[in-house]
Amino acid sequence: MSKQKIYKLLVGTNNRGKLREIKSLLPKNIKIHSTSEFHLKSPKENGKTFKANSLIKSKYFSKKTGLICLADDSGLEIDFLNKNPGIYSARWGGKHGDFGKAIKRVYKELKKKDKNWKNKKIKARFICALSISYFNKKIACVLGKVEGQIAQEPKGKKGFGYDPIFIPEKKRKTFGEMQPSQKYNMDHRYQAFKKIRKFL
Ligand code: IMP
Repeated sequence: MSKQKIYKLLVGTNNRGKLREIKSLLPKNIKIHSTSEFHLKSPKENGKTFKANSLIKSKYFSKKTGLICLADDSGLEIDFLNKNPGIYSARWGGKHGDFGKAIKRVYKELKKKDKNWKNKKIKARFICALSISYFNKKIACVLGKVEGQIAQEPKGKKGFGYDPIFIPEKKRKTFGEMQPSQKYNMDHRYQAFKKIRKFL
């Protein structure tokens, strides 16, 4: 068995949906801290990729707290919208992170591009970059993906963010309609987590 390397970890996110999911993936013998204990605001995400933004967060939160930090940057890429919202996924929700607003924007942009978009399969994927940093040092940085398509209308209230409009490949339900445990076992964070867990 591999030796446990990390005993204490800060999860660098102010998003409660992500915090819940990341906590459920972490080994139970690691003491988990959250950003709310430290009253920290999120840093400016001015990277050009998911990986760059994830590293901005894990380094920033580690420097602020002195703890090893695991942070994610994630979002939804829609091929028909030139991979938007992509790294701008959170920003499409506006200042207050209103995901009703972000979802409306997705449908508005699809309609603008093609008013018959519902006759097409709108391919999309959730992407997650997970990184672990200690102060300014990168310990690991990986990418996970889940492929799928955009639903013709939002369905389900179980998830967060864009969950109600994303149907993963080979499934009929949106992430918003699935039990959290079912989503957590297949999604982009889980795929990224499989790659990063050897560092924990
Ligand atoms: P950021 O990684 O904090 O910049 O935010 C990424 C945004 O992408 C989130 O605010 C969510 O709206 C969206 N997102 C990321 N992961 C998921 C997910 O698992 N379900 C739904 N939306 C997600």
